[in-house]
Amino acid sequence: MSDKRSATDDTDTVRAWLDESDHVLVTAGAGLTAAAGYDYGDTVRFQELFPALHRLGLRSRYMVGVPLPPELMWGYWAVHIADVRYDPRPNPLYQDLHALVKDKDTWVMTSNVDALFVRNAFDPERIFTPQGDYGRYQCTTPCTRRTWSTEPLVEELLRAYDPTSGLITDPGALPRCPNCGGDVEINVRIGPEFVDDAYLPAAGRLQDWLNTLPAGDRLLVLEFGAGFNTPGVIRRPGEHLTRRLPGARLVRVNPDHPEVPDALTGRALAVAARADHLISALNRPSSTLSTYGDHCE
Ligand SMILES: [Zn+2]
Repeated sequence: MSDKRSATDDTDTVRAWLDESDHVLVTAGAGLTAAAGYDYGDTVRFQELFPALHRLGLRSRYMVGVPLPPELMWGYWAVHIADVRYDPRPNPLYQDLHALVKDKDTWVMTSNVDALFVRNAFDPERIFTPQGDYGRYQCTTPCTRRTWSTEPLVEELLRAYDPTSGLITDPGALPRCPNCGGDVEINVRIGPEFVDDAYLPAAGRLQDWLNTLPAGDRLLVLEFGAGFNTPGVIRRPGEHLTRRLPGARLVRVNPDHPEVPDALTGRALAVAARADHLISALNRPSSTLSTYGDHCE
């Protein structure tokens, strides 16, 4: 019973902090995308989408870092990116999250590369994606700082894709750099060759926004599903920002690692819940006796 009471308390606190905030910075890691239905660790979905890779012994999208022949690797990328980046359906969780903050002065910073924010009504001019975007590809060398849309690339690859073997059957469909003819890769932060030029303007706008927040205003950093894979991208900057701005508060929503720094006591809240459970509870009227526990289902 105490857990349910605590969950309701957390929801009420988050609701109050949201109401009291003048500005909201939504930050998000892989946990938000997983809660939205795109769990890269989902072994059942992996077997459905990638039967050939499953036969090779791979069990989740997290395992697809192993070297694969280009025909197999690009078959994987085409199916994976079509699934997580170009699914045309609105996502209910992101839509619900947008409904919570749409009347606020809001920015987004996310390590996710699936464009779920921009595809679900968030202002594209106010989203910073430091780890890249499945929507673009780059030269592996790289011979140029230019990047290109993956949309036509994925369509062409899927036309040449054989689901049974997992292979791109037409070698002519394998992508080459439009500039030098060399190898290409998806424009996400895999290694030092990552070309981040497409994302730097948003970084600058976010920095300007933070630097010009009126003194005395309240900023709420609302963090979802950011763990310790790349803590320097989402977790640490959110903590640093909250420490630096006296009026700032941090809400950290994470079922496994909700801990917040002691130095932020009173200004940081650890919510040990999945993002979808908390967002669902926040969107219900506050008068209902509700929790975000699994017992609801
Ligand atoms: Zn090139």
